[in-house]
Amino acid sequence: MSRVIFATKNMGKVREVGDIFSDTDYEIISLIDLDNKLEIEENADTFEGNAKIKAEIVFEKFKMPVIADDSGISVEQLGGKPGVYSARYAGRNATDEDNNDKLVWELDSYPEPHPAKYVCVSVYYNGIDFTTGYGEIKGKIIRIPRGNNGFGYDPHFVPDGYNVTMAELPSGEKNSISHRAKAFGQLKNRMKMTKEKI
Ligand code: IMP
Repeated sequence: MSRVIFATKNMGKVREVGDIFSDTDYEIISLIDLDNKLEIEENADTFEGNAKIKAEIVFEKFKMPVIADDSGISVEQLGGKPGVYSARYAGRNATDEDNNDKLVWELDSYPEPHPAKYVCVSVYYNGIDFTTGYGEIKGKIIRIPRGNNGFGYDPHFVPDGYNVTMAELPSGEKNSISHRAKAFGQLKNRMKMTKEKI
């Protein structure tokens, strides 16, 4: 078993990614197990840049291989916003509700539908090289929220091919179609390929 630290304190992400790696010989631990207080400033202007910042800081602190991700939602009519600012769209200490209110308000002057996509970039860092993965899921934003599962923008996001929001899907189903599932699925395969080359 090789231990890998997942640079997150989000229990939902830990469960989701732990499941994806359950058929590998990687054991995934997280900042919840190691250092819940570590604060990381995500100040890059791309998802990949932010994921790499998280991985480097955690590697420097623990000197162990790290996986990390950065994700968000990109809305076409808003020129890709909130993008990398998704978590703090309505300000530094914004709640999910504040961010959702701002998004709906900003879309008020645009006609429906409001096409959008969730994006996730995942990285693995061993102190020398980065391996990256990418995932996205397309859909649209609806103004009236629906559903209690998931987090963030999920009550306002209807994935293409569905007529329910991401927050109305059972978590198992969300996790099988999500941007994060795709990004970490790709990362897992690329990590396997790199290992086989050695
Ligand atoms: P981070 O990847 O932990 O930095 O989170 C970025 C932000 O993007 C979150 O705080 C949410 O606002 C949004 N986000 C990312 N993934 C999801 C998702 O699966 N559902 C809802 N919101 C998400």
